[in-house]
Amino acid sequence: MYAPPHIEPGLPPVRVNLYSDTQTRPTPGMKQAMMEAEVGDEQYGDDPTVDALCERMAALMGKEAAVFLPSGTMCNQVAILTHCRPGDEILAHRTSHILTSEGGGAAALTGAQITGLDGPQGQFDADTLRAAFRLRTRYAPPQTLVEVEQTANLGGGSVWPLDKLNAVLDAAHGNDMATHMDGARLMNACVAAGVPAAEMVAKCDSVWLDFTKGLGAPLGAVLCGTSDFIGRAWRWKQRLGGSMRQAGICAAACLYALDHNIERLAEDHANARALARGLAQIEGLVPEEPVTNLVFIDCKATGMTADELGKRARRMGVKLSAMGTYRVRACTHLDVDAAGIEEAVQVIRKVVAQ
Ligand SMILES: *Cc1c(COP(=O)(O)O)cnc(C)c1O
Repeated sequence: MYAPPHIEPGLPPVRVNLYSDTQTRPTPGMKQAMMEAEVGDEQYGDDPTVDALCERMAALMGKEAAVFLPSGTMCNQVAILTHCRPGDEILAHRTSHILTSEGGGAAALTGAQITGLDGPQGQFDADTLRAAFRLRTRYAPPQTLVEVEQTANLGGGSVWPLDKLNAVLDAAHGNDMATHMDGARLMNACVAAGVPAAEMVAKCDSVWLDFTKGLGAPLGAVLCGTSDFIGRAWRWKQRLGGSMRQAGICAAACLYALDHNIERLAEDHANARALARGLAQIEGLVPEEPVTNLVFIDCKATGMTADELGKRARRMGVKLSAMGTYRVRACTHLDVDAAGIEEAVQVIRKVVAQ
């Protein structure tokens, strides 16, 4: 029950890995940058490469300060711990990562409850948000935080349009709630929408970016906010054991990713569209129209579950993920090129024909 996914013995090597953009390997250029990184003791604020990354991220997001953390999950949990108190209520989409995929962390660590809001594509609008506001009585849980995901992962990698996003964040502030953005794939959203990051997150009190998704670094995520917020977040980083030592080795990979791996996200988006077009030709598969690098495919009409389809494709060298009984996810990233997309379509066609 708590085990990682079962791996069948004797499988052939993976030829096209569409499982997740987390599975990219650092490139030779990135490894070189890591090897040459100047380092110190990050916990003491003494690592110049970590400092450079935090300064650069704060500037990119238009925030005062930033803190380097090992993962995106830790960014969300540190942010929730910093914004909320035990008993508080967080409003987020019901498919959000903080609600579905962080081991109940908000409840376990902060003692906060999350109420899931509805809406298409992993997004909710300002009216839906306002309808969830409670009267501020002594009976009601204090509602302190609104969380949005850009891009919305289980929402199909969708991008919140800027006006819809800002209307939601304004409504939150109007109700004296703080705003937090899970920006695991924020740069995918910025590249797809052609909106600079600082403009996209202007109304977010806190926001983080993952370096291990489309940006291709081996670990690390950076949480941004006001100097006061980041100061308080640092204490939670320390308490959770997330403070590090010669982390400049990892920060160097993130700096390299900022320089080399953002504009190219457009290629991943083009590959995702090509994949969806190819899969739409296969009887029984209904892909959702991708906006960024995630392609969700309804496979119900094939008679196979997503898990079965994924297992069969894996035996033929193509790795997919199952995100629901009949919902397959394919994710494009810097280790998959246009030829890989063609190969994946051919393999999946054979799997469905079997
Ligand atoms: C991957 C992901 C996370 C968690 O990031 P990790 O770095 O894997 O801990 C959080 N939110 C979303 C939307 C994600 O896709």
